[in-house]
Amino acid sequence: MFDKILIANRGEIACRVMETARTMGVKTVAVYSAADRDAKHVALADEAYPIGHGPAPADSYLLGDEIIAVALTCGAQAIHPGYGFLSENPGFVDSVDAAGLCFIGPSAEAIRKMGLKDAAKVLMEKAGVPVVPGYHGSNQDSEHLFGAADGIGYPVLIKAVAGGGGKGMRLVERAEDFMAALESARSEAITAFGNPDVLVEKYIQRPRHIEIQVFGDGTRAVHLFERDCSLQRRHQKVIEEAPAPGMTSEMRAAMGQAGVRAAEAIGYKGAGTVEFIVDGSGGLRADGFWFMEMNTRLQVEHPVTEAITGVDLVEWQLRVAAGESLPMQQEDLAINGHAFEARLYAEDVPKGFLPATGTLTHLQFPDGCRADSGVRAGDTISPWYDPMISKVIVHGPTRAVALARLGRALEGTEVAGTVTNLAFLGGLAAHPGFAGGDFDTGLIARDLDVLAAAPVVAPHHKVAAAMSALDLIRPLSHSGFTLWAPLRRAVSLTWQGETFELQVDVESSDRQIWHVGDEEIVATRCGIGWTIGSRPLPDVVQSNRSITVFDGYGLTFELPDPLDRDAKAGGDTNVIVAPMPGLVKVILAVAGQVVVEGDRLAVLEAMKMEHALLAARDGVVAEVLAAAGDQVEAGAALVRLQEESE
Ligand code: ADP
Ligand code: ADP
Ligand code: MG
Repeated sequence: MFDKILIANRGEIACRVMETARTMGVKTVAVYSAADRDAKHVALADEAYPIGHGPAPADSYLLGDEIIAVALTCGAQAIHPGYGFLSENPGFVDSVDAAGLCFIGPSAEAIRKMGLKDAAKVLMEKAGVPVVPGYHGSNQDSEHLFGAADGIGYPVLIKAVAGGGGKGMRLVERAEDFMAALESARSEAITAFGNPDVLVEKYIQRPRHIEIQVFGDGTRAVHLFERDCSLQRRHQKVIEEAPAPGMTSEMRAAMGQAGVRAAEAIGYKGAGTVEFIVDGSGGLRADGFWFMEMNTRLQVEHPVTEAITGVDLVEWQLRVAAGESLPMQQEDLAINGHAFEARLYAEDVPKGFLPATGTLTHLQFPDGCRADSGVRAGDTISPWYDPMISKVIVHGPTRAVALARLGRALEGTEVAGTVTNLAFLGGLAAHPGFAGGDFDTGLIARDLDVLAAAPVVAPHHKVAAAMSALDLIRPLSHSGFTLWAPLRRAVSLTWQGETFELQVDVESSDRQIWHVGDEEIVATRCGIGWTIGSRPLPDVVQSNRSITVFDGYGLTFELPDPLDRDAKAGGDTNVIVAPMPGLVKVILAVAGQVVVEGDRLAVLEAMKMEHALLAARDGVVAEVLAAAGDQVEAGAALVRLQEESE
């Protein structure tokens, strides 16, 4: 076994790898960008070294040669790439090999073979693995692709051959939309992957995404069953589970064998995932799955497989990389119970899943779940990397029990300091269609209105926030009121831009009468806790002017700053600003143009996503202040409209 390994990654996965390395007695080395000096993965490592010359991945975690130099200097024998970043970069693997170090993962050759979706499909066809019907040849002529789509039959999916993370993909329902979709898929593919090539596939109806975890030693491979990742938003996974609901032993055997065949066909070493698309109409059938792609790395959702098999996949990665043979044979592997994973992100769901940033003033997970997180309370979600806060993983003897545990774990998760998708995840965990196990990748889109609805605030939430604001929760209140006379006090709070006032008559240290609009609510202390009306006071945390009430997945109120009011009055609708740092993809506005409220004026790419910036009112474009390709800071003015009086 290695004495010391370097982890060429950050966040959750870097921490995950270090935890296993530590239990195996292997020393760990972290590398970090300028934005990550105080990050959790740096604190967890035995040694840590700065890399690069800036926070952007291209200036830090993607600098393979610099990372290799660190490994050589500090005496690490191997490099674990995590996922994302350099994990599927065969050039990096070549450099690691050339430096005399060990890459904890497959060979450069295996990565190359699976790196492009079209070449991978050809290879899999030859290995006898069923592939999605479609055109994955080298002729990239638009008319030719259009003809191919016709032959396949609509709907079709256009996919960037170099694609990943759901990018460069377009669903085309009708022939007349094909050319426009092809152009936009190509342009997205060039920006994201530097490769415009696409393939065209049959779009599978009622699609389910079921993938096989494989593990190879370079010659032989085993599979660790399937994961169902059908709960997706825009082709990105949201909640994953293992095993797949409705899976038959016949289909599992067929898919497992196909996965093993894929891995053995390329002499695969280490952990990999073979992704299949499954036709979910009419139940799961042994002949109803097709190869989509192979991810030649550890996958984000690997913990659900660990939960049902009892295998530590990172331990296996280290052992096989160090030259050991496969730790278990196929017949020794079995499924125990059911597991779910939910991806908790800093994002504003009602605002179209806008990625968010912020400092986590509070972060707490309940008992009864595994929380794989790359951040701690006090850490910052920066705009530079994936805004994932944590993965919440649960296990249970049956799917129903595990799902109930997921629901409870999400309800008990407390995050303050940024908006999160927690309520959205909770809504999914409680979704009857999901609970029934009969769902496809379209579930989220179909029910988006309900799932992405803004949270509703009830009077007792306002009281809870106000009690914190006036420091009326603590047993021995230091607020200095007198006990012998009722004292009326008032407080203003803001909820999503709307300010309201509450009054309270403090009757004693154990009893308060609150006035919320026309409603009167009595808060009484019972033992060590408070009851508001008939409900127990939820957990409340306050950080400066921000108060989060942990009911309904966290409701954050602000204490208005009186000094702020004037500045905000009249809200500036003249200037369209970047809501976060990012890359200006397109400017659609032109000076002099007449626009109406809601028109798209610019598109900003930030944190894996594109965001359309819309006109806040009707008007005329006065000035365009940024150009496509500009890297802008949060708050940067992009487009200015003429003053309404101009
Ligand atoms: P997965 O099935 O593992 O989610 P994806 O194709 O969605 O696969 O993403 C590939 C991996 O790369 C993910 O694990 C994702 O977190 C990571 N990744 C993608 N973009 C970034 C980024 N900008 N910074 C860090 N990690 C990223
Ligand atoms: P990426 O590299 O971005 O992960 P994939 O090829 O794995 O790309 O596809 C991402 C998602 O798109 C899948 O998980 C699935 O939900 C959907 N998808 C891909 N191919 C098809 C298809 N042929 N029919 C229906 N849905 C598909
Ligand atoms: Mg995929």
